[in-house]
Amino acid sequence: MTAVEPMAAATARLRAAGLRVTAQRIALLMAVDESAGHADADTLRDVARRVTGGLSLQATYNVLRALTNAGLIRCTMIPGHPGRYETERGDNHHHFVCRSCGTVRDVECAVGRAPCLDPGLPDSYEVDEAAVTFWGLCPDCNDAAK
Ligand SMILES: [Zn+2]
Ligand SMILES: [Zn+2]
Repeated sequence: MTAVEPMAAATARLRAAGLRVTAQRIALLMAVDESAGHADADTLRDVARRVTGGLSLQATYNVLRALTNAGLIRCTMIPGHPGRYETERGDNHHHFVCRSCGTVRDVECAVGRAPCLDPGLPDSYEVDEAAVTFWGLCPDCNDAAK
Protein backbone atom coordinates (compact mmCIF):
# COMPACT_ATOMS: atom_id res chain seq x y z
CA MET A 1 0.00 0.00 0.00
CA THR A 2 1.34 3.42 -0.89
CA ALA A 3 1.26 6.20 1.64
CA VAL A 4 -1.91 8.18 1.05
CA GLU A 5 -2.72 11.46 2.63
CA PRO A 6 -5.08 10.59 5.56
CA MET A 7 -7.82 12.99 4.48
CA ALA A 8 -7.82 11.64 0.92
CA ALA A 9 -7.86 8.08 2.25
CA ALA A 10 -10.79 8.82 4.57
CA THR A 11 -12.69 10.47 1.71
CA ALA A 12 -12.11 7.44 -0.52
CA ARG A 13 -13.32 5.05 2.17
CA LEU A 14 -16.50 7.07 2.72
CA ARG A 15 -17.19 7.03 -1.03
CA ALA A 16 -16.48 3.31 -1.29
CA ALA A 17 -18.97 2.69 1.52
CA GLY A 18 -21.60 4.71 -0.34
CA LEU A 19 -21.69 7.50 2.25
CA ARG A 20 -22.04 11.16 1.46
CA VAL A 21 -18.71 12.83 2.18
CA THR A 22 -18.92 15.53 4.86
CA ALA A 23 -16.21 17.30 6.82
CA GLN A 24 -17.51 15.82 10.08
CA ARG A 25 -17.49 12.27 8.70
CA ILE A 26 -13.96 12.70 7.36
CA ALA A 27 -12.77 14.16 10.68
CA LEU A 28 -14.31 11.41 12.82
CA LEU A 29 -13.20 8.57 10.55
CA MET A 30 -9.65 9.96 10.73
CA ALA A 31 -9.96 10.30 14.51
CA VAL A 32 -10.94 6.64 14.83
CA ASP A 33 -8.18 5.52 12.45
CA GLU A 34 -5.58 7.54 14.35
CA SER A 35 -6.67 6.37 17.78
CA ALA A 36 -5.09 3.33 19.34
CA GLY A 37 -8.58 1.82 19.28
CA HIS A 38 -11.48 1.65 21.72
CA ALA A 39 -11.82 5.41 22.16
CA ASP A 40 -15.21 6.72 23.30
CA ALA A 41 -17.27 9.38 21.50
CA ASP A 42 -16.08 12.18 23.79
CA THR A 43 -12.42 11.47 23.06
CA LEU A 44 -13.00 11.14 19.31
CA ARG A 45 -14.98 14.39 19.29
CA ASP A 46 -12.04 16.23 20.86
CA VAL A 47 -9.69 14.88 18.19
CA ALA A 48 -12.12 15.55 15.31
CA ARG A 49 -12.72 19.14 16.46
CA ARG A 50 -9.13 20.02 15.63
CA VAL A 51 -10.08 19.37 11.99
CA THR A 52 -13.70 20.54 11.80
CA GLY A 53 -14.06 23.06 14.57
CA GLY A 54 -17.59 22.99 16.03
CA LEU A 55 -18.93 19.49 16.55
CA SER A 56 -21.66 18.71 19.05
CA LEU A 57 -21.72 15.46 20.99
CA GLN A 58 -25.06 14.61 19.35
CA ALA A 59 -23.58 15.16 15.87
CA THR A 60 -20.62 13.02 16.91
CA TYR A 61 -22.91 10.15 17.88
CA ASN A 62 -24.89 10.52 14.64
CA VAL A 63 -21.75 10.35 12.51
CA LEU A 64 -20.29 7.44 14.50
CA ARG A 65 -23.55 5.54 14.04
CA ALA A 66 -23.48 6.15 10.27
CA LEU A 67 -19.84 5.01 10.06
CA THR A 68 -20.64 1.92 12.14
CA ASN A 69 -23.68 1.03 10.04
CA ALA A 70 -21.58 1.40 6.88
CA GLY A 71 -19.05 -1.09 8.27
CA LEU A 72 -16.15 1.37 8.37
CA ILE A 73 -15.76 1.35 12.13
CA ARG A 74 -16.72 -1.05 14.85
CA CYS A 75 -18.57 -0.10 18.03
CA THR A 76 -18.17 -2.28 21.08
CA MET A 77 -20.76 -1.82 23.79
CA ILE A 78 -19.46 -2.64 27.24
CA PRO A 79 -21.99 -2.61 30.08
CA GLY A 80 -21.34 0.34 32.38
CA HIS A 81 -19.12 2.14 29.85
CA PRO A 82 -19.73 4.41 26.86
CA GLY A 83 -19.45 2.65 23.48
CA ARG A 84 -15.89 2.21 22.26
CA TYR A 85 -14.96 2.72 18.63
CA GLU A 86 -12.20 1.31 16.44
CA THR A 87 -11.45 0.81 12.77
CA GLU A 88 -13.28 -2.25 11.44
CA ARG A 89 -10.69 -4.80 10.38
CA GLY A 90 -13.12 -7.68 9.90
CA ASP A 91 -11.00 -9.94 12.10
CA ASN A 92 -13.77 -10.92 14.55
CA HIS A 93 -11.56 -10.11 17.53
CA HIS A 94 -12.86 -10.04 21.08
CA HIS A 95 -12.13 -7.80 24.03
CA PHE A 96 -10.69 -7.92 27.48
CA VAL A 97 -12.07 -5.25 29.84
CA CYS A 98 -10.46 -4.34 33.14
CA ARG A 99 -13.11 -4.20 35.85
CA SER A 100 -11.13 -1.63 37.78
CA CYS A 101 -9.93 1.00 35.28
CA GLY A 102 -12.04 0.15 32.20
CA THR A 103 -9.03 -0.40 29.93
CA VAL A 104 -10.00 -2.36 26.83
CA ARG A 105 -7.61 -4.49 24.85
CA ASP A 106 -8.06 -6.77 21.88
CA VAL A 107 -8.12 -10.52 22.24
CA GLU A 108 -7.59 -12.53 19.07
CA CYS A 109 -10.47 -14.72 18.05
CA ALA A 110 -9.54 -18.25 19.06
CA VAL A 111 -11.16 -19.72 15.99
CA GLY A 112 -10.51 -16.90 13.52
CA ARG A 113 -13.91 -16.46 11.97
CA ALA A 114 -17.42 -15.61 13.11
CA PRO A 115 -19.30 -17.03 14.86
CA CYS A 116 -16.54 -18.63 16.84
CA LEU A 117 -18.79 -20.25 19.42
CA ASP A 118 -21.41 -22.86 18.63
CA PRO A 119 -24.63 -21.85 20.39
CA GLY A 120 -26.11 -25.28 19.70
CA LEU A 121 -29.28 -23.81 18.23
CA PRO A 122 -31.38 -25.66 15.65
CA ASP A 123 -30.26 -25.24 12.00
CA SER A 124 -33.24 -22.95 11.35
CA TYR A 125 -31.37 -20.20 13.25
CA GLU A 126 -28.73 -18.34 11.29
CA VAL A 127 -26.08 -17.14 13.74
CA ASP A 128 -23.41 -14.83 12.30
CA GLU A 129 -21.63 -13.46 15.33
CA ALA A 130 -20.68 -14.26 18.90
CA ALA A 131 -19.62 -11.27 20.98
CA VAL A 132 -17.28 -12.36 23.73
CA THR A 133 -16.04 -10.03 26.45
CA PHE A 134 -13.42 -11.21 28.90
CA TRP A 135 -13.48 -9.41 32.26
CA GLY A 136 -10.79 -9.19 34.88
CA LEU A 137 -7.91 -6.99 36.04
CA CYS A 138 -5.25 -5.47 33.80
CA PRO A 139 -1.59 -5.85 34.92
CA ASP A 140 -1.50 -2.35 36.48
CA CYS A 141 -4.69 -2.88 38.49
CA ASN A 142 -3.62 -6.42 39.37
CA ASP A 143 -0.35 -5.05 40.82
CA ALA A 144 -2.20 -2.32 42.71
CA ALA A 145 -4.55 -4.92 44.23
CA LYS A 146 -1.69 -6.91 45.72
ZN1 LIG B 1 -7.01 -1.78 35.01
ZN1 LIG C 1 -11.01 -4.09 19.55
